Amino acid sequence: MAEKDVAGSPAPERLICPVCHENGFESLVTLRSESQTYMECLPFIGVGNKQHIHDSNIRSKEYECSRGHRWVERSSGTCWCGWKGEVLGQTMIIRKR
Ligand SMILES: [Zn+2]
Ligand SMILES: [Zn+2]
Repeated sequence: MAEKDVAGSPAPERLICPVCHENGFESLVTLRSESQTYMECLPFIGVGNKQHIHDSNIRSKEYECSRGHRWVERSSGTCWCGWKGEVLGQTMIIRKR
């Protein structure tokens, strides 16, 4: 029996397992754990009296799909000026379109 997605359930972010996606499998991705660093990153005023927030805290999310593939996705803050947090380490990257 094939399981089907329940239509109409809220999905703010559609998660796709990169391995399953590559192989054409269907799977359900769940968030297993989430963590983040807590550095103090205060907003400051730059040129033109514009506020910058250079938040270099890194949020790590560990995902697992229903076929047992796991990966960690790390993201950090970005600013409108083009500033980015630290270089992100990733294990398996999800491509988004
Ligand atoms: Zn998978
Ligand atoms: Zn900035």
